[in-house]
Amino acid sequence: PGIFGAVNSRFSTVAQQSSRPGSSLRVPNLIGGRFVDSHSSDAIDVINPATQEVVSQVPLTTKQEFKSAVSAAKEAFPSWRNTPITTRQRVMLKLQELIRKNMDKLALSITTEQGKTLKDAQGDVFRGLEVVEHACGMATLQMGEYVSNVSNGIDTYSIREPLGVCAGICPFNFPAMIPLWMIPVAVTCGNTFVLKPSEKDPVVISLHLRNMHCLDACAIIPLAIYLFFCVSHLSFLLFLGASMILAELAMEAGLPDGVLNIVHGTNDTVNAICDDEDIRAVSFVGSNTVSPPLLYIDYSFCFIFGAGMHIYSRASASGKRVQSNMGAKNHGVVMPDANIDATLNALVAAGFGAAGQRCMALSTVVFVGDSKFWEEKIVERAKALKVSAGTDPEADLGPVISKQAKERVCRLVQSGVESGARLLLDGRNIKVPGYEQGNFVGPTILADVTADMECYKEEIFGPVLICMQANSLDEAINIVNRNKYGNGAAIFTSSGIVARKFQTEIEAGQVGINVPIPVPLPFFSFTGSKASFAGDLNFYGKAGVQFYTQIKTVTQQWKDLPGGVSLAMPTSQ
Ligand code: NAD
Repeated sequence: PGIFGAVNSRFSTVAQQSSRPGSSLRVPNLIGGRFVDSHSSDAIDVINPATQEVVSQVPLTTKQEFKSAVSAAKEAFPSWRNTPITTRQRVMLKLQELIRKNMDKLALSITTEQGKTLKDAQGDVFRGLEVVEHACGMATLQMGEYVSNVSNGIDTYSIREPLGVCAGICPFNFPAMIPLWMIPVAVTCGNTFVLKPSEKDPVVISLHLRNMHCLDACAIIPLAIYLFFCVSHLSFLLFLGASMILAELAMEAGLPDGVLNIVHGTNDTVNAICDDEDIRAVSFVGSNTVSPPLLYIDYSFCFIFGAGMHIYSRASASGKRVQSNMGAKNHGVVMPDANIDATLNALVAAGFGAAGQRCMALSTVVFVGDSKFWEEKIVERAKALKVSAGTDPEADLGPVISKQAKERVCRLVQSGVESGARLLLDGRNIKVPGYEQGNFVGPTILADVTADMECYKEEIFGPVLICMQANSLDEAINIVNRNKYGNGAAIFTSSGIVARKFQTEIEAGQVGINVPIPVPLPFFSFTGSKASFAGDLNFYGKAGVQFYTQIKTVTQQWKDLPGGVSLAMPTSQ
């Protein structure tokens, strides 16, 4: 296909021969402080999910380019780790200011590539910004410990030291927040970093397109066609205005060359990260629906299922630390005494916001007692939501990320219907005026769903609310705990006793009590249990700092040494 040929696949392993190196639409890599075009002839189109326009193209970075990025990070490490922590913090202080100033541009870039509404895109940036703010206090967070006189004249202290080169692999659904879960903590601790953004929406984290002065004569022709093609749409604004994006901002904030590097690609780049002997730690956020044993038998199976456990096992096998945040099926348990209005608002917002493409979306609701009343009210509210392009100021939810994602959502809804679920609201055939080509799915509600149905077992990742029913709180907790995922769970009740029981007995990383999307602020950690997380140190918070540092324990003795030699094990006397 030509440069406007739309080819993308959720688990694409085959490079699309859609542009040549040097094309003005290609997103560059960032290596050693320079935005450089990949020499790879293989690229994937990044498609605006509301319009199907090709926004840009992601190169499949070559092995040599990947290695150059790691080498740049390795080279930058000694001087960066020796840079005073106060200086590293000041870079973050400046970065948070620059992100605030560029909030609208970042949000527009996210909406164009990912589809979410502009307001939601701002929330995406803001939740990442909070991690940058948190990293401004790294000196305190990274503090070691000291015990004086552990033995006669001897003191022991521990130091939290950076690891070296760390890497991050990102999903499509939060193109700003997730990279910002990783980069600020990792680099302010003194590490250098190699990031692989999602191939579906890479721009917010790297330079949008090549700078104008990089364009050669051949590139000007497709550029002119592109501008002409886009002139009635918003994406041309990005082309002209969104060159200030996160990586650029970080460098403008003072991050030295080589401290942050960006390589684009898919499975091969990810596998190169897992195997590289200079990379010490890998942070992953994305999907996983795999049963781990298969992956241990043959890595090549992984593309069928998802990435999380594959990356966890492959990177761990080469001796790296790994934190792997994966898929979810978050439940909201509604008690009969819940505040009606607030609960309905919470369910609708958390079920359909971001078109259900949040790892903390409340995709399943379990009504304790009679569900009929609640179901009718939710349908009423869901029907009132406006589905449109994310740039429409009145839109409540935008499109899902790709045609394949829409097909998957529709297939899972259909499987629910065929297994006996009641379809209370069907958004599968929605048409959005002016955006007829968009991957839209309207709010969809399935009731009478049971735990054995595929639509319940699988993460749908679309605007679909699954309704279940339980006769008691114990039964509801049991349903939630039997689910393989354990990302988030919420309860809606006015009883403290019920809430406390739920908090104690529920198996989920994030628990909300009358809070539908309990994503913790950065002074706590974003956690996850069961199939939603692999590793033992979570993202951001204290655990995040521990993940990106290693402890060195020093024992020192400053006294006149006693004479004589003792070969017995030294003991504290
Ligand atoms: P994804 O797994 O398809 O992609 C994530 C990253 O992994 C991408 O960079 C991709 O290039 C890479 N990748 C994908 N398949 C691979 C393979 N077989 N081998 C090597 N690398 C591979 O995820 P997505 O569709 O971009 O994101 C949505 C998923 O992420 C959902 O499951 C969602 O729940 C999850 N998510 C989880 C959290 C969390 O904190 N738990 C947060 C956000 C998203």
